[in-house]
Amino acid sequence: MKVEDRQQMINLLTGVQSSKKSYYNELKKTIIELKKKNMQLEIINDVTKSFNIDMSIDEMLENVFNKLQTIFPIERISLSMYENEKLILTNVYPPHSLYFPIGFNLSKEHSLYWKVVESLEKIFYQVDSNKEDYIENKIYESLGIRSVLFVPLIHKGKVIGVLSIGSKEMMDYDKDDFAFFQQFCDQLAVCIENARLYNEVLTSKKEWEETFRSVSEMILVVDLEGNILKYNDAAKDFFQLHLYQREKRNFHQLLSIDIHNSPVLEMVQTKKPVYQEIHFQKRVCELHAYPVFNESQHIYAIIIYINDITEKRRIEAQLVQSGKLAAIGEMAAGIAHELNNPLTAILGNAQLLLRTASKDDRSYKLLSDIYSCGKRCKTIIQNLLTFSRQDEYMFEDCSVNEAVEQVLGLIGDQIKKQNIIIQKKLDRSLELIEGNIQQIGQIVLNFLINAKDALEEMDIPEKVISIETKSMMEGEKKWVLLSVQDNGRGIEEQYLQEIFNPFFTTKRPGKGTGLGLSVSLGIAQAHGGTIEVISHPGKGSTFMLKLPAKQ
Ligand code: ADP
Repeated sequence: MKVEDRQQMINLLTGVQSSKKSYYNELKKTIIELKKKNMQLEIINDVTKSFNIDMSIDEMLENVFNKLQTIFPIERISLSMYENEKLILTNVYPPHSLYFPIGFNLSKEHSLYWKVVESLEKIFYQVDSNKEDYIENKIYESLGIRSVLFVPLIHKGKVIGVLSIGSKEMMDYDKDDFAFFQQFCDQLAVCIENARLYNEVLTSKKEWEETFRSVSEMILVVDLEGNILKYNDAAKDFFQLHLYQREKRNFHQLLSIDIHNSPVLEMVQTKKPVYQEIHFQKRVCELHAYPVFNESQHIYAIIIYINDITEKRRIEAQLVQSGKLAAIGEMAAGIAHELNNPLTAILGNAQLLLRTASKDDRSYKLLSDIYSCGKRCKTIIQNLLTFSRQDEYMFEDCSVNEAVEQVLGLIGDQIKKQNIIIQKKLDRSLELIEGNIQQIGQIVLNFLINAKDALEEMDIPEKVISIETKSMMEGEKKWVLLSVQDNGRGIEEQYLQEIFNPFFTTKRPGKGTGLGLSVSLGIAQAHGGTIEVISHPGKGSTFMLKLPAKQ
């Protein structure tokens, strides 16, 4: 084969109808063209990717701008979003090419941007100092931009924004370039819209979560085995859930609920909301459980709503107790009135007879007895009246010792009659407290009645109740302490948590109301104090009232 033939053959094979030199030029052009296409693909790919990895639009524009610059001599890229009949400038890159501030509401008159919005068509615009047709002309001129391509961002047939690509050169985009920019903007529109929708979902999810978290009552979401799936802040704090490992957070274990008595089980069986009252570490709570159904109407989770009602109960109990005492007070006042007259006569007559009787006389002793018993009756009536005057809750200087004496005057004998020895050790130099003597008396009374009841069926040689008062320093603060100790039945460990709960009683019906200690604690707290208890089952208990001494 001759040389010419070979050349011809190459030409034939490669399809290049030119000389070797022009063939290489052709090839070079094709490679550049291919590189450009690759870069364009990369840019479109980048747009999708950047939204996936949660990149901001500014970062994405910067990225795209740098890549576009490798294939087109562009200087500026800007994005304006169209919403609610407004076109707002949202992003510009590079930032120094900003003319209007970000967030600027682009006005409609003689605006190229608006023309794109209204026509849904891209516009290639050549900046010219002699032209005054559009307001943007002047702006671009001042920025040194000579040609701008405006492309609409269209999503589902509606314009959502405009992208402008400015260059300091008089650009000569071909058909393929326009197609690329349109494709790029279509992709951008899809991504922006998706990001907007995603953010909408995210915001509403966040709003729900925040609402759930900030409800001040406790909310738990558990599965059918009672495993805690979700909880709000109130539940976390109340049950100290952060101290448990995730897999150990079980509703039944947490509340020591017997699985057979579980609201979860009841709920699954009845498929209806369940209400229960529960006790957790000295607190009384209302529990409501609601089923959560899936699409096929099967319960797959349970919402447990818990409300701490301890304070409410205590106040209710206090009201009941005050009501009862008010009734006793009224009755006592009536009885006192009725008894006072005959008593005055008894006392007066006894006194008269005593004056004339000689001390050696046998009747003198009998008359003295009549007189002292009558006096005692008068004191009891007096104490009863003082004690039951519950409506006068005045806070004033008062003595805990005096409260003890008043109550002992009222029920001391009754206790002694049951073969119980009362040992009294009152600190005579005890500080006063600021409070209400009737209310403090009520605490002492509750302590004494409980101690007496605890000794009731005890088979021990000596039943003793010791009452002691003393003061104590704690840091800078001085406290007045009153303790009532008995060697009675004691309190079992499992009940110690509950004895202060309203209506908790181990006494037989009719004997105990379960209000005494909860009311006492309420009173102690209202006085800035507290009640502590130490008990040994079978050996006895000590109840301590601790109140701040008057400064
Ligand atoms: P109530 O006396 O009506 O039962 P309280 O609130 O005063 O109500 O007491 C609650 C429970 O605490 C009692 O039922 C009893 O079980 C227990 N308790 C209180 N004090 C004593 C005590 N000194 N010894 C043994 N148990 C006590």
